[in-house]
Amino acid sequence: MAAEKTRAIILRVVEFSETSCVVTLFTEDFGKVGALAKGARRPKGPFEGAIDLLALVRIVLLRKSSDALDLLTEAKLERRFRAGQRELSRLYAGYYVAELLSELTEQGDPHRELFRAAVATLAALDTDARVPETLLLFELTALLEAGHLPSLEQCVVCGRTVENEKRIAFGMTSGGVLCEECRPGRRGVVSVSQGVIEAMRIGSELVTDTAEQSSRGPHFSLAPAIQGELRAVMNNYFAHLVGHRLKMSDYLGAVSPT
Ligand SMILES: [Zn+2]
Repeated sequence: MAAEKTRAIILRVVEFSETSCVVTLFTEDFGKVGALAKGARRPKGPFEGAIDLLALVRIVLLRKSSDALDLLTEAKLERRFRAGQRELSRLYAGYYVAELLSELTEQGDPHRELFRAAVATLAALDTDARVPETLLLFELTALLEAGHLPSLEQCVVCGRTVENEKRIAFGMTSGGVLCEECRPGRRGVVSVSQGVIEAMRIGSELVTDTAEQSSRGPHFSLAPAIQGELRAVMNNYFAHLVGHRLKMSDYLGAVSPT
């Protein structure tokens, strides 16, 4: 067993015994990992309260070679996620980030960019950053990392540039916009307003182009009129991708931030 140091976001904590728990971690260097934290439930346990949902921690892991759980031997708190104490919408958004990380990545498959994006997103949610924009950019980053960023300019089937009509056909299972010729007979096609596709396009440019991100990112804002539809499209897209509706989907936008 090798002892490995890395940073991690705590995605899930499940009680395991009177004194221990099993934690799901999204680590910087090893991706998603399940680990046993012995003594974590003791009041003066070895982790000093660092085992907290969505906290960013520095950890030491004893990696098991087989399918067995790793052993968490150290966890030092780097940053606690506090946004939930202020606003319910920020708490839900944080849970949603954890669910996306958990659903879109495989055990032991590292995604360092996604880790950094998740850390930045949780930090942004902890400040006054706007929730809908922050979440959309994280969703698009997660899709980019998972190789499922939808095609938003070119027809996902034939590659032709799709006309900028008032409403544009979007294939949930095909993974992007569809031209008039490719649309008929396809399953899982929804008609999406141009404003929503445009917002997704701008968001995608921001997450794929870091120069763009630093110049335009802070000014990126979603018109209130499109937010409901945009949320429905993203929820639907993720449901098609992972094969079931994400649990937190129904809570996003339910509590609109002011
Ligand atoms: Zn086409």
